Amino acid sequence: MKLISTRDESQKEYSYTDVLLAGLAPDGGLFTPLSYPHVSLEEIASFRGAPYRDIAFTIKKKIIGGDIPDDVLHSLVDAAYSDTSFLPTKDGNVAPLQTIGNGVFIEQLSLGPTAAFKDVAMQMLGQEMNYELSKRNEHLIILGATSGDTGSAAEAAFKGLEHVTIFMLSPERGMSPFQKAQMGALSGGNVLNISVRGVFDDCQDLVKKLKNEKEFEKLGAVNSINWGRISSQVPYYFSGYVQAVQAIGDEVDFCIPSGNFGNALSGYIAKQMGLPIRRLIIATNENNVLDTLFNTGIYAQTPTRTTSSPSMDISKASNYERFAFDLLGRDAAKLREYMHIFETTGSVDLKEFGVSVSDLCGQGFESGVSTHTDRLGSIRSVYEKANIVIDTHTADAVTVGIRAKKDSVPLICMSTALPVKFEDSIKEALGFVTERSERFMGLENSLPEDAFIRIDADAEQLRAFIRSHS
Ligand SMILES: *Cc1c(COP(=O)(O)O)cnc(C)c1O
Repeated sequence: MKLISTRDESQKEYSYTDVLLAGLAPDGGLFTPLSYPHVSLEEIASFRGAPYRDIAFTIKKKIIGGDIPDDVLHSLVDAAYSDTSFLPTKDGNVAPLQTIGNGVFIEQLSLGPTAAFKDVAMQMLGQEMNYELSKRNEHLIILGATSGDTGSAAEAAFKGLEHVTIFMLSPERGMSPFQKAQMGALSGGNVLNISVRGVFDDCQDLVKKLKNEKEFEKLGAVNSINWGRISSQVPYYFSGYVQAVQAIGDEVDFCIPSGNFGNALSGYIAKQMGLPIRRLIIATNENNVLDTLFNTGIYAQTPTRTTSSPSMDISKASNYERFAFDLLGRDAAKLREYMHIFETTGSVDLKEFGVSVSDLCGQGFESGVSTHTDRLGSIRSVYEKANIVIDTHTADAVTVGIRAKKDSVPLICMSTALPVKFEDSIKEALGFVTERSERFMGLENSLPEDAFIRIDADAEQLRAFIRSHS
């Protein structure tokens, strides 16, 4: 299966493995499939009761389209979803469903090493990148910036891989002690943690600045627009589906706690591939860029507000461009103009491009907003009903999903982090925190003094550090 850039009318074709290492397309667009592969209902039926690894193999094979040989792909999937990387569950299920009653399910996507759903895609990305680099006999330096979950998920996935070195910038201020400790514990070898005296935007500006320089332009990226990540999130929609429905062919609704629209886009792709999804319900927190979009057709950047579901605190939703490309009839010139208006004015209206709100929602998209009070309420009610403690991001999905539920069609709310990452909010909601599992016990107390290299928000200090370590 070939890929094209959303901003290239000539539709130059790229292979899966080229795109994997490239991140953004050369014209600044996002890579997207030339067409979506198809999965039949018979194939979906065969996923029932199958180990997650088999589902992941089948779906990724269709998406990769022969670029990685079958036996290799099997070994990469096995390494990504081993019992040591993901908490062992019954039948090796990486994405088990739990019921909270009345046809509402929670799909647990956070059993990986850093306790957030980003592990599911990042573990696979690490394996695929390392394989391709070793085949090409190349080494890749990844430079990233993180305000929370992405950094530790990337580090856990790339730790010890021979062909990759990862430099991760994080702000001295703004991250929780738990998140710092998770990253700090991974420092060493091919993982270098750099603490920047500043805030997240300073980190991001440094990354952008260096990548625009000839010397550093080849640095790799692992942010959420990476096609390898998006495509590795598609299998868990199939897995959730077969666990929820009575009969194959029945419809389901998904509710997705959304920030950059990466997870939701993977659901849209699963639907294009033939999975019987009726609704894709987008849950936002107080940062409601996507809710405004799906209700009005207007995509407008807003200043970020800090909330108790911080991994969804975004000012724009980068992956939306891939969906917008489809909405605009896959017309790259139109998409370019649309994104140009957004990038220069901070706001763009689909109606001016001939797309109505009902076209926009025609693929089953709906949306809703969840606030801090809603989150606390949902954490409480799920605990009372089902004796399950959910985290604040999952709580956003439960809030919006249950509000939108209208009939007996199963509703799957995606659980994107474990509550241990956000204990302050859990305490606020329930009055207590649950006991930590062994792997997180005392994590914050064991941070080595030299886990982070400290620099100012200064490009020259960063350049010097990267040069001396690569
Ligand atoms: C990243 C993240 C999200 C948002 O996912 P997107 O793909 O950016 O929409 C939601 N919850 C958690 C816990 C996350 O880490």
